Amino acid sequence: MSMAENPLIEIKNLQKYFNVGRGAVLKAVDNVNLQIMEGETLGLVGESGCGKTTLGRTIVRLYEPTGGEVLFEGKNVHKLQGQELREFNRKAQMIFQDPYASLNPRMTVADIIGEGIDIHGLYKNRERTERIYELLNLVGLNKEHANRFPHEFSGGQRQRIGIARALAVEPKFIVCDEPISALDVSIQAQVVNLLMELQQKLKLTYLFIAHDLSMVKYVSDRIAVMYLGVVVELATSEDLHKSPLHPYTQALLSAIPIPDPETERKKKRILLEGDVPSPINPPEGCRFAKRCRHAKPVCTEKQPEFKELEKNHFVACHLY
Ligand code: SF4
Repeated sequence: MSMAENPLIEIKNLQKYFNVGRGAVLKAVDNVNLQIMEGETLGLVGESGCGKTTLGRTIVRLYEPTGGEVLFEGKNVHKLQGQELREFNRKAQMIFQDPYASLNPRMTVADIIGEGIDIHGLYKNRERTERIYELLNLVGLNKEHANRFPHEFSGGQRQRIGIARALAVEPKFIVCDEPISALDVSIQAQVVNLLMELQQKLKLTYLFIAHDLSMVKYVSDRIAVMYLGVVVELATSEDLHKSPLHPYTQALLSAIPIPDPETERKKKRILLEGDVPSPINPPEGCRFAKRCRHAKPVCTEKQPEFKELEKNHFVACHLY
């Protein structure tokens, strides 16, 4: 994972709100600022309902933002039109959590992978077929699989088909939305290794969304931790694991089982108390206050600023 200094994507004050009736507003993404560097994997972690999937989907234009903007190669993606829009739709792809639900059961693998090739007019006839075989090879399948249907494959193979479909249009950036959460533990590592190999080979940039930190640590250059619509911490993968600053990150990390029994005994587990509050009309101040062991009066009054405490290590918490 070699990381360039140039941001491929800049997320500025991004908001995505949903009206859920009776004047209630669900603030799924609330003033998020992030950059995704060319060639890096940015991990995005948080419990379900924290807004990470909404953020991923807003970046690739599956949602219109309520406020703020997303720049891709310096251009606002939600304002693109014509040829530039088509190019963005090709360059930014998504891999979904449930490979079965995202593959049309009535289409053969060749048609699923070929669809994007046709839409973007990349290859025709013989070259198209060769390209489909090449993509199948790239993801660890082979040309014998081309004329089969999704139900004939295992979960891991279906995710490989989903990856081939994303790669078919030669993207630069892929949102990997919990790509391994629905898979057996035994094959999760294979799919993750494949994604990492492909990143090297094809110089891809990833936003890797997950609900726990264990696999994200392994794949990410940097990690952003989200809680109820806001990013509460951002650091390199190493710094985040060695010295997590936000009480929520500390709790998430303490929940990862460590295989070494010696270390396990020494490690204190921080239990997160209380339920995840609702992102509908979220509380004033720090959104984590109700579950935080360190909460003080200011925490429920003022939302903490997201600031750079150490080089490349950002946190939003009144303790600092
Ligand atoms: Fe806890 Fe306050 Fe920091 Fe929020 S701002 S995480 S409540 S100490």
